Amino acid sequence: MKILFLGPPGAGKGTQADLVADRLGVPHISTGEMFRDHVSRGTELGERVEAIMAGGDYVPDEITVAMLEQRFAQPDADRGFILDGFPRTRGQVASLDALLGEGGLDLVVVFKVDEDELVSRMLSRGRADDTAETIRNRLQVYHEQTQPLIDVYSERGLTETVDGIGDVGEVTERILSVIGERVR
Ligand code: AMP
Repeated sequence: MKILFLGPPGAGKGTQADLVADRLGVPHISTGEMFRDHVSRGTELGERVEAIMAGGDYVPDEITVAMLEQRFAQPDADRGFILDGFPRTRGQVASLDALLGEGGLDLVVVFKVDEDELVSRMLSRGRADDTAETIRNRLQVYHEQTQPLIDVYSERGLTETVDGIGDVGEVTERILSVIGERVR
């Protein structure tokens, strides 16, 4: 089962993707985590993306898509995955369609969280790209480039919206319940 988590930064996608992937026995694939791993290991790719991430901007599609393509080539991605943080642009949607081929995604879980809640969550998480100024930029970039993707997937009949506010375990149960209804 190939499931995408879509929503604004700070919505809890990463936390929930970890929990849900564990329950379903599929990998959690997060381009943000992969980039952070490169930065912390000081790889060449990490050096290219560090300043972009620190400013809250998007890494260019060709870099992101190439990294994801390598990840999909690993055998554990065959059975399915929870994809989190990709696609973020229309170009990335087209790349994902090409990478997945026929069938594509089974479900897109859209996270709904109030904007004030997003900001306070991000400020409390203490990540390098979670300063007040960067957060403002990340939300703006999200609204401009990624929010429109909700319509793209909703026109394909793939979206289910989940309320991301509340206890972590309760949100996990909400997500598992929409997955259970949609995916067999
Ligand atoms: P995330 O952990 O998903 O919030 O991602 C952290 C940062 O990594 C983002 O703010 C971007 O700078 C970068 N990033 C992650 N995924 C992508 C993507 N699909 N396209 C472009 N940049 C990305």
